[in-house]
Amino acid sequence: MRKNRVAGNWKMNKSLQEGEELTKNIIALNDNSNDVELIIIPPFVQLSSLVKLTQNTDIKIGSQNNHEAKSGAYTGEISASMLSALGVSYGLVGHSERRTYFNETNEQLLAKTKALLSEGIIPIFCCGEHLNERNSNQHFVTVENQLNALKELTAEDFAKLIIAYEPVWAIGTGETASAEQAQEMHAFIRKYISSNFGKSIADNCSVLYGGSCKPSNAKELFAMPDVDGGLIGGASLVAEDFIGIKNSF
Ligand code: PEP
Repeated sequence: MRKNRVAGNWKMNKSLQEGEELTKNIIALNDNSNDVELIIIPPFVQLSSLVKLTQNTDIKIGSQNNHEAKSGAYTGEISASMLSALGVSYGLVGHSERRTYFNETNEQLLAKTKALLSEGIIPIFCCGEHLNERNSNQHFVTVENQLNALKELTAEDFAKLIIAYEPVWAIGTGETASAEQAQEMHAFIRKYISSNFGKSIADNCSVLYGGSCKPSNAKELFAMPDVDGGLIGGASLVAEDFIGIKNSF
């Protein structure tokens, strides 16, 4: 059976000291009362410290980005092998902020995904439409085009992935997709996976929802049959809210 997960994307927030404090608070509040995996995705400079802080817990650490090359003259970049050497377990790929502000293309996202897989890091591949695409009924086409980036992966590799559906209009806006809108897209994503990689891989793939998810709406979203958890931005910066979302399962 697929796993339920709640991942917190801290984006470019928190100093090292603040991140350590927040992680300690999350560990203290996490009562392990349900079988939901928690993933913390801090800025790069906190990875090493947070891997150590969480090593005797069930909490896993993820990266927000990685370069596709193994090493070389790419000033300012971080490779997947550097991340795996630190003990990073998960890696975000294709967050809408990376697609928008850093012009990441399908080709690059496939290369980044492959780089993570080659280092044993599980990619959390993000997809989702802009508001104008939803309003013009193009949201399924957009998400399908984004997933097509992964089409050349082998089924064995695809089986390791987590998918995060994040409608761009719901990220950081306070606006959430309704549980029905989320379910409709998650079912579409699962069908896509089934058609391209097989039913059992689709059935076992965790598909997370992201976009202004908070303790007050998580329960309704997570009750949907194809919603296997959340990718949380703003609310993951407050330990009580992050754990509150986890406990919504
Ligand atoms: C995100 O950026 O992945 C996200 C879901 O942000 P927020 O929860 O703040 O909308």
